[in-house]
Amino acid sequence: MSSHSHPIQIPKTQKAAIVKCSGAAVQVQSNVPVTQPADLKPGECLVKLQCTGVCHTDLHAAMGDWPVPSKTPLIGGHEGVGDVVAIGHNTVNSPVKLGDRVGIKWIAYSCLQCEQCRNSREQNCEHGQLSGYTVDGTFQQYVVSYVNCVTPIPDGIESASAASLLCAGLTVYRALKYSETNPGDWVVLPGAGGGLGHLAIQYAKYMGRRVIAIDGGEEKRKLCLSLGADHWIDFTTCKDITAEIKRVTGGKGAHAAVVTTASSSGYSQAIDYLRENGRLMAVGLPSKATLDANIFFTVFKSITIHGSYVGNRQDAIECVNIAASGAIKVHYQSRPMDDLEQVYDEMGKGKIAGRIVLTLE
Ligand SMILES: [Zn+2]
Ligand SMILES: [Zn+2]
Repeated sequence: MSSHSHPIQIPKTQKAAIVKCSGAAVQVQSNVPVTQPADLKPGECLVKLQCTGVCHTDLHAAMGDWPVPSKTPLIGGHEGVGDVVAIGHNTVNSPVKLGDRVGIKWIAYSCLQCEQCRNSREQNCEHGQLSGYTVDGTFQQYVVSYVNCVTPIPDGIESASAASLLCAGLTVYRALKYSETNPGDWVVLPGAGGGLGHLAIQYAKYMGRRVIAIDGGEEKRKLCLSLGADHWIDFTTCKDITAEIKRVTGGKGAHAAVVTTASSSGYSQAIDYLRENGRLMAVGLPSKATLDANIFFTVFKSITIHGSYVGNRQDAIECVNIAASGAIKVHYQSRPMDDLEQVYDEMGKGKIAGRIVLTLE
């Protein structure tokens, strides 16, 4: 279909949540210009968003506390789902067409030509663009994205569920995929009852791994076990987590850990409870924490510490397709876009349980 013939009316202005400069409060405004179809460059598309997830990364971006600077003013957000309503003139071989439902993930654009891209490590592309960080993201009703990098969303999954998969789901899915574990192997998930953790349990079980879920409190215990965790450890009452993991795994330790925490202790502890040739998958992006691992035992036990950063297009497609097959239940809370400032506030105070999804329509 030619982009000349699209029937959809694109408004001139829209509602968007804007951070004027690093550290400023986020403001929802209703008169923000919408990029018009005629102004799209080849390879770009305009997506009318239905909803977007809110991630801790968005809070880091708004506060400007990461070592890499973001653009300003900034429209954050990188877990958007919506429909393609325009494609730039002279776009060739677009893998998506008008009307397709697509997802906008953290990696908004990768060149597909550089060394990292040629090795399918698009998330490390030297020309990469990041949604809601180096380019405006999904806290708006109409977002400009790139036909080659949006994620097709299959039928069989509602948009609000798909939203959280585009960052949280993708991140844990790739970490598990690259954990070099086999079916039946033990995977430890600290923070298993949280936004990333509850998805990690389900992907791990889908892959046939055995899961040791660590978190605190009765509510989290119930959630983790209902999602299929094989063993539960409550860190608020367990006196020796390493000993407990060793006991459960027949004295040998776990094969892998997917560590999403910002605290150094989560990492040093993993070196103790992993078995020989175990893999520590580091996926959190705290602004300052350092990784404190015992070098002797990292070497002596041949432990691999693997930084796993979101995922490429293929990882995203696999992650979403597995969920659309019915295997993954996303626990989220819907909020209106106007709540974003309050959501950031609650997030900063650690009050958010699970994922937040903003409705944008
Ligand atoms: Zn994120
Ligand atoms: Zn590249």
